[in-house]
Amino acid sequence: GRGTASDTGSGGGDVKAHFVFIPLMFQGHLIPAVDTALLLATHGALASIVVTPSNTGRVRPAVDFARKSGLRVRLVELPLELAAEGLPEGADDVDKVPSELWPNYFRALARLRAPLESHLRAHAPYPTCVVADFCHAWAKELAASLGVPRLCFFSMCAFCLLCQHNVERFNAYDGVADDHEQVVVPGLEKKIEVSRAQAPGFFRGIPGFEKYADEVEQVLVEADGVVTNSFLEMEPEYVAGYAEARRMKVWTVGPVSLFHQRTATLASRGNTAAIGADECLRWLDGMEPSSVVYVSFGSIAHAEPKQVVELGLGLEASGHPFIWVVKNSDQHGEEVRELLHKLEARVAGRGLLIRGWAPQVLILSHAAVGSFVTHCGWNSTMEAITAGLPVVTWPHFADQFLNAKFAVEVLGIGVDVGVMEPVMYRPDQKEVVVGREVVEEAVRSVMDGGDEGEERRRRARALAAKARAAVEEGGSSHGNLLDLVKTFEVGAGCFATV
Ligand code: UDP
Repeated sequence: GRGTASDTGSGGGDVKAHFVFIPLMFQGHLIPAVDTALLLATHGALASIVVTPSNTGRVRPAVDFARKSGLRVRLVELPLELAAEGLPEGADDVDKVPSELWPNYFRALARLRAPLESHLRAHAPYPTCVVADFCHAWAKELAASLGVPRLCFFSMCAFCLLCQHNVERFNAYDGVADDHEQVVVPGLEKKIEVSRAQAPGFFRGIPGFEKYADEVEQVLVEADGVVTNSFLEMEPEYVAGYAEARRMKVWTVGPVSLFHQRTATLASRGNTAAIGADECLRWLDGMEPSSVVYVSFGSIAHAEPKQVVELGLGLEASGHPFIWVVKNSDQHGEEVRELLHKLEARVAGRGLLIRGWAPQVLILSHAAVGSFVTHCGWNSTMEAITAGLPVVTWPHFADQFLNAKFAVEVLGIGVDVGVMEPVMYRPDQKEVVVGREVVEEAVRSVMDGGDEGEERRRRARALAAKARAAVEEGGSSHGNLLDLVKTFEVGAGCFATV
């Protein structure tokens, strides 16, 4: 019933720290938050993960596995009050909420505060820390009312967080009339340029979120710290720079996907995959090492049908084997469906189309994969880095433009397709943004780009080695997880709780 929670979780026992994770229930936020919660549990904490009913299935395989291995993890399932916010039935699953209704969806999420607080008060042990996605402004009131510290959760690189913060705190866009004019990001040693269209700030410029953007910033300012899916050795100056600018502790705990590389849950992150893990692996096993281009644009971005065809033709022309994740193929219309079927027949044996959800980390971990054409959602970018792969950067919206710049200009592992503005939330969006020749050239460049291509690949592999070291015993992310558990123990130092 409303306001009650189905607690599938284990007993508290002698837990010292109890983290309550409140993910945003978009896959790009939910997946890394769950991974982080499970990682904290591996260090002895109790982790409670809040989900709404349609997300339980997305989270359960990993949580069940963790519990079977003796970790203390609870799922707290709370229903959304959809009707109260004018949302249709089924809108609990954000994949089914049109973006015009996202403001309503966020208001429905905020209504979780009271039932969640009641649940937490009724189920011992009492929380010692709330870890809420930075998008949940209402978590501030929740933590305050519970009397416990609150951390803001991000799956973003510190480079992106610092660029965005500096652009805002130094008013870099003031007096810049043209949304597309490139301005230098203030306060960095390296010269990075970005436009307001590419990096407007969290929730800025999205209709219906005007006031929410300010609220989210204020709630971040008042947080007790930041937890993010990055690792120190990849970007030490930006992690330090962001912590200093915010005057708060930043715990980098990534790459969090590595939790799964030691478990049987690698193929079960997020939605149910549209292809069996065995079939996928068999296909990859038949390919030469580092020969396959993996192409996917994450869980939200959806391309215009004409752009989809253009991308397919570019991949075909590149001559390289590829796995291409095609989303929303049911919405493409007969003509485009037909074109894709013909293309699929022409590339049979070297091109695999996955219509729907792909077991992405399973694919990226396979030795046959040689590069990743990505929209630069931070999880995907981090997963490419973890797999030691160079990337073709094709940002669509939100933090993706800054992530693309990070991959190309800071890490030196990317080839950019040259998209200059977001393709989402724009009524005037062009149908084809990136032509087939550009796709072909970018893929050729990342796959066989001579000395430069070799250098990119070498840098990507070196980063992957550092990423792995970060999560091992003695590594920075491993150490930060331990530090989190210690810092938020019952009765610990400055964060003493009830
Ligand atoms: N993902 C996946 N299969 C898909 C699409 C996405 O497993 O077909 C996962 C991907 O591995 C990543 C997350 O979903 O962990 C997407 O997050 P990201 O930040 O890359 O992009 P977003 O979806 O937020 O735009």
